Amino acid sequence: MIQPIENADLSRLNSFGFESEAQFLIKAATDQDVCDAMNFAAQRDLPVLVLGGGSNLVLHSYVPGVVLQLSQTGYSLVAQENDNCLIDVEAGQNWHQLVTETVARGWYGLENLAFIPGTVGAAPVQNIGAYGVELKDRFVSLRAFDREVGQVVTLTASQCHFAYRDSLFKSICPGRYIILRIRLKLSNSYKPVLAYGALTQCLQNEAPEADEVLAAVIATRQSKLPDPVELGNAGSFFENPVIPVDQYKKLRMQYPQLVAFKDKPGFMKLAAGWLIDQAGWKGYREGNLGVYAKQALVLVNYGGGTVKDLRVLSEKIQASVYAKFGVSLSPEPRFYP
Ligand code: FAD
Ligand code: NAP
Repeated sequence: MIQPIENADLSRLNSFGFESEAQFLIKAATDQDVCDAMNFAAQRDLPVLVLGGGSNLVLHSYVPGVVLQLSQTGYSLVAQENDNCLIDVEAGQNWHQLVTETVARGWYGLENLAFIPGTVGAAPVQNIGAYGVELKDRFVSLRAFDREVGQVVTLTASQCHFAYRDSLFKSICPGRYIILRIRLKLSNSYKPVLAYGALTQCLQNEAPEADEVLAAVIATRQSKLPDPVELGNAGSFFENPVIPVDQYKKLRMQYPQLVAFKDKPGFMKLAAGWLIDQAGWKGYREGNLGVYAKQALVLVNYGGGTVKDLRVLSEKIQASVYAKFGVSLSPEPRFYP
């Protein structure tokens, strides 16, 4: 049975550590609890926000309506087909714990996605990705409560419209689906994905085992990214901009060191962190907010910062990158409400 908590403190439930209060916080331990929470909100005509670990959200000081947290955790093996296994994972499961436990069981494929904060239920929302692997590469389907039809539905990978840090859930119909569990296809034999130089530099040999890659990903991320428990942040604050090849060629003439990678045909992806660094922001601090000194793509809250401060700083960064390179940056985390 659900027990709505009124005026609930969310300060510890968002990784920026912003002071925030929810009108109602409801924890759902079962699918029935999710339905009951939706009825609770509908009867009072309240909006609903699903909250995982709060590591890709910027919460305002007051969040009206219902904040719903799914607390079901765990995973189960549903099928073993040839060299592959299918697993179902509950939405409330911690993502990184899933990665380490699957590697330990010999179910491979998630190593490059280690140490990403947050929950399994949020992973499809922005099709989480790191070091050349995205959730969509291991994804089969998910079960979600569709608020429009009031039923639990199954969505396949193609129905989820996964794209670079994007999906159906993030930009096509945000808020419509409450993801309850996901099905992944992992492999019993390890095939390393070693496209990223930052990762291969940390590895001793050319054909590493899964646990070596897992350890390298964790070590690299620990050395470069701030721990949200110590320094509030939401990871990369801006998406990497994707620009037409012609624009890239002109920029490259002006900035031969420009960091860029091939994207869809006719387009190049620029490293947003490099642009921000070159515009002089790395290590900059303004009041309680700042730009992390080891990775310019991460904005940090030194404590006591507000969403307003964050908007001011991020807009200054966007304006200066645009003035220098003619490239627009878009924030990656969702501002709510
Ligand atoms: P939240 O922030 O709670 O929610 C994010 C969005 O998903 C919200 O819109 C929310 O409403 C929605 N949502 C959450 N759960 C559900 C659900 N069950 N059903 C429907 N909607 C839901 N991201 C990457 O892609 N790659 C990285 O390498 C990476 N590194 C990071 C490193 C750091 C230090 C930090 C702080 C963040 C990083 N992130 C990264 C961003 C973030 O961790 C991921 O996007 C993660 O998946 C968010 O999970 P969460 O549970 O915290 O989601
Ligand atoms: P990095 O290795 O220093 O690389 C800088 C940028 O260059 C990254 O944004 C990455 O793009 C791109 N890149 C590097 N090598 C590439 C290659 N071989 N092919 C295509 N693109 C390449 O990046 P980092 O900041 O330390 O992060 C490492 C990984 O973790 C990245 O994949 C990054 O996306 C992920 N990460 C994400 C977040 C987040 O909040 N979203 C936070 C921290 C780290 P991509 O970003 O497209 O991979």
